[in-house]
Amino acid sequence: MHAAGLRPGPFPGPLTAYPSTAPRLADMVEVTWRRVAPGVYVRRHEELNLNCGLVVGDDRALVIDTRSYHEHGLELLAAVREVTDKELVVVNTHAHYDHCFGNSAFRDSQIYAHAGAVDDLLRTGEHQREQIVAHVRATDREHMARMIEATEIVLPFYVIEDDTTLDLGGRTVELLWAGRAHTDHDLSVAVPDAHVVFAGDLVEEGADPMMEDAFPQEWAATLRALTAKPAAELADVWVPGHGAVVDRAFVEEQTAQLAQLAERFTEVIDGGLAGVDALLSACRGLGFEDQTLRDAAVRALELRA
Ligand SMILES: [Zn+2]
Repeated sequence: MHAAGLRPGPFPGPLTAYPSTAPRLADMVEVTWRRVAPGVYVRRHEELNLNCGLVVGDDRALVIDTRSYHEHGLELLAAVREVTDKELVVVNTHAHYDHCFGNSAFRDSQIYAHAGAVDDLLRTGEHQREQIVAHVRATDREHMARMIEATEIVLPFYVIEDDTTLDLGGRTVELLWAGRAHTDHDLSVAVPDAHVVFAGDLVEEGADPMMEDAFPQEWAATLRALTAKPAAELADVWVPGHGAVVDRAFVEEQTAQLAQLAERFTEVIDGGLAGVDALLSACRGLGFEDQTLRDAAVRALELRA
């Protein structure tokens, strides 16, 4: 569902994958919490097809990702409060605006992220904001543009670099980092007792993986490392950052597809033919959109340089 013509620049984010002309998700599913296991919920939003998560323990509840701006965050918080009145802990799976610009609505909570997410937000946060505001204005959503402009970017302040266990009371969740993939700092959240993993944008359903600041040749290996971690190895409910909840077979298929891409990129680059067009044509037929392959090729060449 990529619309190359709408891409505003190096930080388009998924807004461009789901332009305002795309079918409205509201026509497909109701925006509400879906229970995927006892005390484990997914909320899929019309805006960007984004999934947020909620894991409720006896003492605390974990919110996974906070949406795109302050009012979106407040709306999510109100929805969380319909499910639980427990103390909230938050995790941002990564530093892309749609997963963390709603943090300002959760500033009373401990907000966790990978150290790389904080670096990334410090480096790119205002640039991301400019890009989204320009895109939203260009698609006639002035009200949303103003709200994004007015949103304070709140940095996660519980910063981790290694896999970390959070005790929610009566159940634990694991914040997992398995390597570079969609960014250099993607965290996944495993709920081992429920066999659920919130994979952030390491897994995408309904659209291609987003390659703009990805590590295309490492992505498959990272997914393999993630699925092999003890907290995730039995998981059969996988919640992607965007799109429908999937099963383990879907994740394995996406991993295989990314592995083929990595293999062909390596062949072309080792063969000395490397250019965006050569990389792109080597990977046609793997099931990715041309724009995804182009973005991946640009990244692979950048990373080699
Ligand atoms: Zn995303």
